[in-house]
Amino acid sequence: MVSPLSTHSAHIEKLASPDQMAYSLVHDPQGTPYGTGPTNTHRILVLFANLGNHFKHLFAHLLDKIYRSFFSGRAGDAYKEVPPSHASLRRLQTVGRKTLVLDLDETLVHSCYTDPETQDQVGCGQIPERAVPDYQIDVTIDANSTIPFRVFKRPHVDKFLSLVSKWYDLVIYTASLEVYASKVVDLLDGGREMLTRRLYRQHCHSTTALFTKDLTLVSEDLRGVFIIDNSPNAYLYFPNNALPIKSFIYDPDDKELLKLLPFLDALRFTKDVRSVLGRRVTS
Ligand SMILES: [Mg+2]
Repeated sequence: MVSPLSTHSAHIEKLASPDQMAYSLVHDPQGTPYGTGPTNTHRILVLFANLGNHFKHLFAHLLDKIYRSFFSGRAGDAYKEVPPSHASLRRLQTVGRKTLVLDLDETLVHSCYTDPETQDQVGCGQIPERAVPDYQIDVTIDANSTIPFRVFKRPHVDKFLSLVSKWYDLVIYTASLEVYASKVVDLLDGGREMLTRRLYRQHCHSTTALFTKDLTLVSEDLRGVFIIDNSPNAYLYFPNNALPIKSFIYDPDDKELLKLLPFLDALRFTKDVRSVLGRRVTS
């Protein structure tokens, strides 16, 4: 005599997926062959089929995680620094060391604060409550008002600065107030003296509510200077000396800085950055 369990086991083995198993068991076209209602064995088999379904999703989730950590994640993280050849070093001497100008807010960091007068949260709308800031600084705007800022670093900014400071002279050029920005840049620099040259709001042009940046304040020779800035207004008058970047607010998975590394590594070998950056099509 064939036991009910053996019958079901044979039935289950023929089915391709746990989904199909569950469907087949629940919607048995023969009805329940073991009495008038579902038996305990039948219920157990349905339970196992559903468990199989959960395990299938769990397995797929784990595979996805493994793939992302070994391939997708590393694709961003795995910029490989290769020492320049003798020919490359000669080329660098010929073309000269260039200057990379970096915007601060929404390019390297994002900050938010509570307005002391209105108690409104400024710049905090897209930041989860659980998010832990990298820095907390108090900024004294005037004698009677100190504003606490929460500062979030763009992911990989430390690695980015360490690498590009080997290739370029770095300059911070921000439209933010010096009382705030100088504190943030000091923290970003961390005593490494990569970001000693800085330009602030008082160095921007403001004809409307928008600030533009004057790259000739950094260098008169525009062949060797360019800016990375999330705001197109900033480089309105220097479009051929600009490398746009997506605005950063809060995204632990952001890899925009890492994506720029291969390009920045190559750009230092050109004689005139405008010959490359000027090819960008602007809309
Ligand atoms: Mg900005």
